[in-house]
Amino acid sequence: MSIESRPPEIVGPFTQLQQTVLNFDWSSLAAHLPRDLYWDVLLLTLVIAVFIWFKRKGEGSKGADGRARKAELFQFLLPKDIYTHQSAKVDVCLWVTERLLHPFLAVGFLATVAPATEQAMISMMQFIFGDGPNIEVNLAWMLLYSLFAFLCFDFVFFLTHYIMHKVPALWAIHKVHHSAEVLTPLTRYREHFTAVPIWAAGGAFSHAFAAGIFAYLFNGNITEVTVMNVGIFALIIGITGSFRHYHVQFHYPKWLSKWVHSPVMHHVHHSYLEKHWDMNFAAFTSSWDRLFGTLYIPEKDEYTPWGLPPEKQIEHSSYWHNMIGPFRDWYRLAKAKFESTDVDVTVIEKK
Ligand SMILES: [Zn+2]
Ligand SMILES: [Zn+2]
Repeated sequence: MSIESRPPEIVGPFTQLQQTVLNFDWSSLAAHLPRDLYWDVLLLTLVIAVFIWFKRKGEGSKGADGRARKAELFQFLLPKDIYTHQSAKVDVCLWVTERLLHPFLAVGFLATVAPATEQAMISMMQFIFGDGPNIEVNLAWMLLYSLFAFLCFDFVFFLTHYIMHKVPALWAIHKVHHSAEVLTPLTRYREHFTAVPIWAAGGAFSHAFAAGIFAYLFNGNITEVTVMNVGIFALIIGITGSFRHYHVQFHYPKWLSKWVHSPVMHHVHHSYLEKHWDMNFAAFTSSWDRLFGTLYIPEKDEYTPWGLPPEKQIEHSSYWHNMIGPFRDWYRLAKAKFESTDVDVTVIEKK
């Protein structure tokens, strides 16, 4: 049987979501969107940080210079040199800008890319395998779907991040995230507004890819599973997301770091030391970094000075520097490419 003669009858969760959008049921739609700041997760981050402070007798945090140091509890949790730093203030302004645009773009991609991907996957599965097996949803299948969706997201995040570092025009955008000279939980959302559609499209595609396959297997009975999926893994992603941009060093044992990304491994990703360049792109698992040869497990208290190399940082220190930065770099790139002038492209290139 061909797809032309028999359009897919199974409807996946993103298509259901799209129908919700078309019906202007915005309150229902809002319930499907991820929350941004998880206060419970931030509290958990603080509790783990207090535990590290006790265990390491005041050691285990870093200062604004990226060096490990000993500190009193309050200074350990909320160091003055980090939270009064110009970079932390820029974090707040960029976060507000990004958050204002994020709902529109995220909804846009969830309502377009996700249903299209999902229905394409369902049609493809029907084309190759015929009618679906109509599997009865139980806990084991729910967990399998959750894990699969999670790994899809993890891989698409890695790949998107890798490409953003390697393609100069995209690095011009992602540089804004890396111009953070100190790390705070808000640095997680420090992105130029042109990066939002890229991440949103990647996220929508990965979730819908998994949803399409499992909607086929479950004959469309996937809505409740989707909720389960978000519930299980949002916490894990949330912890790593806010903790990996926190200055306290949360290490995992070396054997575990080869599988799961510890927060301190992201400290390395933000360092401008040459040995740390283009390392640790992961969101959660270390598997893709291992596969691509970009895994770097730091030593205890390893020095990680954050930000761009000092000679590049000068162009990315204020809010407006960061807002216009990508446009200025694109102009430089275009000029260097089309006019064959002596424009210094190393200014745009990573290092
Ligand atoms: Zn990066
Ligand atoms: Zn980061």
